[in-house]
Amino acid sequence: MSEPRNECLFCRMVAGEIPPDVVRETDRTLAFRDINPQAPTHVLVIPKEHHATLGALAGADPELTAELVAAAHAVAVQEGLVTADAPEPGYRVVANTGPQAGQTVHHVHLHVLGGRGLGWPPG
Ligand code: C5P
Repeated sequence: MSEPRNECLFCRMVAGEIPPDVVRETDRTLAFRDINPQAPTHVLVIPKEHHATLGALAGADPELTAELVAAAHAVAVQEGLVTADAPEPGYRVVANTGPQAGQTVHHVHLHVLGGRGLGWPPG
């Protein structure tokens, strides 16, 4: 169990101090719309507990890591990016980790992106 951090934006969202635009919530995860969307659907999925990176979360709590990935998929289904029968039209999950990847909020989050064609390689 990791304690909430006062200086952490996403911990403050979990605490209700800064209300995000929530699309899905479970006991241990929260999904909300990105304030600066990069695609028609751009949702961030976080564990309510504070862990700085995906690696930190995976090391501390593999079960919660799996729950986070499942939550990202559930958001994609909810947003109509895939159906129960087909992986179409499709979506992308991104976890920016560290400065070179552009991580700006140091509370692990999965970006769920979709609703348009997504280029590869990413920028
Ligand atoms: O992967 P990275 O750390 O850069 O992602 C942080 C994300 O948090 C950004 O996409 C940014 O738009 C989003 N954000 C937000 N609400 C805020 C501040 C940042 O959705 N108040």
